[in-house]
Amino acid sequence: MTEPFFADTDAAGSRYYVLNTGERFISVTTVLSYIAKPHLTGWAARLAAEAALDNAERVFIAADTPSCNTKGDNACGLCRDCVTTWLADRHNVYRDAAGDRGSKLHEAAEHREKFGPGGTVDDDAKPFFDAYVDWADRAQPEIIAAEMTVVSRKWGHAGTLDNLMRFGDDSVLPKTLEHLRHKVLLVDKKTSKSIDRTHAWQINGYSLCETAVLEDGSEIPTPAVDSGLILHIRPEAEGGVKMREAHINPLNQAKFIHTLRMAEGVTAPLGDVLSRPAQLPKTKETTK
Ligand SMILES: [Zn+2]
Repeated sequence: MTEPFFADTDAAGSRYYVLNTGERFISVTTVLSYIAKPHLTGWAARLAAEAALDNAERVFIAADTPSCNTKGDNACGLCRDCVTTWLADRHNVYRDAAGDRGSKLHEAAEHREKFGPGGTVDDDAKPFFDAYVDWADRAQPEIIAAEMTVVSRKWGHAGTLDNLMRFGDDSVLPKTLEHLRHKVLLVDKKTSKSIDRTHAWQINGYSLCETAVLEDGSEIPTPAVDSGLILHIRPEAEGGVKMREAHINPLNQAKFIHTLRMAEGVTAPLGDVLSRPAQLPKTKETTK
């Protein structure tokens, strides 16, 4: 079977969905990655500072060790340059590990939703998966779709939504979300430390996709959804899973579309917006 689409990542790390038709769509998460997160600068600096204090002796020695002038696996790891690189990279290592845990949770949850209990999950993601399973055992969602790829030809983006779910008569729900019972919900599972507005814009982005691409490559209209829901999965927090309704409405959809247009702008060919640089001639050439 040929895959109905593939994910293409360009040199700048932006992700696109390429359909069998040859059409190419920027991904919802890439669109949102163009929103600056100023607090991350301070967080990254703090991680580096903490790593330096936790490894004071290594830093002290490196300060007076001339550079080995080597990169990659053969670098000494002890010289001034190597230790500087190591300290400056702490936030990337942290972020990649968190992203990896999130992917494992999503895979394990998808397996359970499609095939029932009995799958396995790596140790680092297990507390997240266990928290999700505890939640699912009580909330008893009907899974309408899992990991569904959706496309908007109208707006020009695509993405993979985690779930379409519906809570039934037997579902345990918080009082404040009782109005969501029997509604079709577009659900996104998050394992990040905090939830912000753009996570709800992500759900609004998926909600704008008219078309779902199935595993055999066929297309169907995306099922109508009534609202959005974020499952914030943090095993260390009391209760493990916090539910937040993500409001899908034209105002919030417009926030996503504005970000989409901005992302298109910053990824467009330079020539669309700027000429080549030009200088005045040195001699007295005249332009004809
Ligand atoms: Zn070195």
